[in-house]
Amino acid sequence: MRPSIERATVLGAGVMGSGIAAHLAGAGIRTLLLDIVLPATQGQAAADPGARTRVADQALAKALKARPALFYEPDAARLISTGNFDDHLEQMRDSDLVVEAVVENLQLKQALFERIMPFVKDDAILASNTSGLSIAAMSDGLPASVQPRFLVMHFFNPVRYMRLLELVTGPKTEPQVLERARSFGEFLGKGIVLGKDTPNFVANRIGIYNMMQALHLMKAGGYAIEEIDRFATAAGGRGGAGPFKTCDLVGLDTIVHVSTNCYDSLAGDEERDVFKVPDWVTDLVRQGRLGRKTGAGFYKKSGKEILVLDLDSGDYRPQRKVSYPSLDKTKNLEEARPRLQALTHADDRAGRFIWDSLSRNLCYAARRVGEIADDIVSIDRAMRWGFNAQLGPFETWDALGVAESVERLRRDGRAVPSWVSDMLAQGGTSFYSGDAATRTYFDVSTKSSKPLARDPRHLSIDVLKCDSSNVIKRNMGASLIDLGDGCLCLEVHTKMNSLDSTVFEMVDSAVEEAERNFEAIVMGNDGAAFGAGANLFVLMAGIQQKQWDQIERAVRQMQTSLQKLRYASVPVVAAPFQFTLAGAAELAMAADACQAHAETYMGLVEIGVGLVPAGTGCLRMVERFTGDVRNIEGVDLLPLIGTASLNLATARVATSAAEAKSLRFLRPDDGITLNRDHLLQHAKQRALGMARSGYRPQRPPQFRAAGVDVAKTLSARVWGMVEGAWASDHDALIANKLAHILCGGDVNAGALLPEQAWLDLECEAFLSLCGEEKTLARIQHMLMHNKPLRN
Ligand code: NAD
Repeated sequence: MRPSIERATVLGAGVMGSGIAAHLAGAGIRTLLLDIVLPATQGQAAADPGARTRVADQALAKALKARPALFYEPDAARLISTGNFDDHLEQMRDSDLVVEAVVENLQLKQALFERIMPFVKDDAILASNTSGLSIAAMSDGLPASVQPRFLVMHFFNPVRYMRLLELVTGPKTEPQVLERARSFGEFLGKGIVLGKDTPNFVANRIGIYNMMQALHLMKAGGYAIEEIDRFATAAGGRGGAGPFKTCDLVGLDTIVHVSTNCYDSLAGDEERDVFKVPDWVTDLVRQGRLGRKTGAGFYKKSGKEILVLDLDSGDYRPQRKVSYPSLDKTKNLEEARPRLQALTHADDRAGRFIWDSLSRNLCYAARRVGEIADDIVSIDRAMRWGFNAQLGPFETWDALGVAESVERLRRDGRAVPSWVSDMLAQGGTSFYSGDAATRTYFDVSTKSSKPLARDPRHLSIDVLKCDSSNVIKRNMGASLIDLGDGCLCLEVHTKMNSLDSTVFEMVDSAVEEAERNFEAIVMGNDGAAFGAGANLFVLMAGIQQKQWDQIERAVRQMQTSLQKLRYASVPVVAAPFQFTLAGAAELAMAADACQAHAETYMGLVEIGVGLVPAGTGCLRMVERFTGDVRNIEGVDLLPLIGTASLNLATARVATSAAEAKSLRFLRPDDGITLNRDHLLQHAKQRALGMARSGYRPQRPPQFRAAGVDVAKTLSARVWGMVEGAWASDHDALIANKLAHILCGGDVNAGALLPEQAWLDLECEAFLSLCGEEKTLARIQHMLMHNKPLRN
């Protein structure tokens, strides 16, 4: 569906304004980005016409350089035009959405609203990105005709990567306006939480409470900063950063600002004092120790080392190893329930801190239901999407066991939120129940269980699998799931979705099953990433035992299965997202089309483990780079194959689906979906669309070889890289093999080769590299350290 917003204006080109503009442009929205005219440049128009838009221009230039990138691809910046509040308000007239993101000051925002009013289109949405100012107060100053179209759209920083978008309505906001903003937010890929007009809304209210609580408990208990961060990651599981690291990332000034705003405006909050910022933190801000952006905060980078603030001396010192029996015992427990239970019951300093802070945080969140958001689901989502928590507070509490922890709170003499006691008294044992298909949550306002609403656009494999009749076939590595309407899904579900023989057996079955009983195949999963490469453990064992025949059989199995998929008589659509590396990229590229999530990090990175892509990856690169010119004789293939070869030899990974297109891991007409939840549905629609519009599999083509002379030129370039110390000898060995394969082997330029010839070259190079000691060392290093060894 086309977004109902075609053009937008962003007022304020600071951190948030430029991030919002970049994200809108990435979604294809023409955006006007305005900021102030610097006082010093007022009146300079004649002498220096660029001076008056310098603030917005520089902000855009900075956004383009930001790392991690704020744009999916730099070219999208062409959709942004810059200007200033004095000269360019006229250009706002065709904007369907106006987002205000200027400094957090009510009077300034109100003054700006007054200035722009004559230029706001009659049906445009006016939104503020305020972090916590009163919406009622902002809305009050607006003309009566605009108040129904005004609301808060609270994006999180960095806008591209943070999933949460809080929507908060004012007293007069019309429901249709909220719905329009919600559907636009979802189109942008955001997870929407409806908050209420309370200071700092949902995620920041709870998140800042948790941080400030940790800070006070640390001081009171005589703990060190690095200890608290370690406790938080131990309790929160992988991905969760500790409170002090998060403060440094966000900026201590922002944290102090938000916390002080809570303290000043929450006179009735039973824990208001928690928001009072201690003097030693205010001092850090005064000294400019604001965290990452100023180089020092609670931590400081010194060369390669990260030092930590010593609370006694005020100086930075090396971090001490944080070791407690409870942390050591639980460090490999990935599942939240046993991990949290072990940690909160541990009788050491770590265990005592974790229980103390966690139980306070959970009770505080429970007392906020109804005040900051209507239900527990919104609070859980806000914490997962806005703070990257693995679990929200009520999900965490379920993992701890509600009844046991309430009992413990009572024994500790602590107040239990009344509705939690009521839920237990009614016989409820957890906040959420049921499986993925029947999930319910405890609704605090009606004191009863309510079904969790499911978005029909969110096609979930987990939900489908709850009905066993949807599971057509299953083995250890993959399953075939009936997606409905004649579409079959191949779901890989190995650890990290690595590929092994069980997966390829299922690829074969998918083709057979679909050709008999379905119209199309989709490849996708509900996990954390589309997939990594081949199972390196299995490969390493094969190499160590010199089982060359077995390795060759495995390579041939992958090639045969993926070619079978490529030429199936039904259309195949892959739905890659997040990491789609090596073998997983080859799997996706074997499809007729991809429908990729915007955040797809795709690449053929085999060189990192001392190998070349041999599961059709090199063949697909030849196809993508030279397929268009295969019928033209005499074309110079050096620039094309040279680029493909360089991408593979340097293990280029696309940092977005848009970039994957320019690297040709995706085709120009592959689809991009911004919302992860909509991805599988889009892939299914695409596959069925192809099936129902006369799909015919293509005949295997032949490709023109660049030939041995081009391979020699590429080798000379590799030699230059070794000379310049850009590449090791082993890198060079692999790069030369890549050049040999991509050029078609020992043939003259222009020779037409069938696909099998390229597959044979892939296999031969792969096997020869398996016999190299340095390749084995790279594989072992990757398995042990999860990063490549450049030997
Ligand atoms: P910022 O300081 O980076 O940018 C503010 C912009 O306002 C600047 O470009 C500045 O030139 C402009 N400005 C300054 N004086 C002005 C005036 N008199 N009139 C109009 N504009 C003026 O701030 P930011 O972090 O981008 O925050 C902008 C808004 O977004 C604030 O309301 C903030 O609370 C909110 N917000 C910030 C974050 C965050 O993490 N930084 C997150 C969510 C929401």
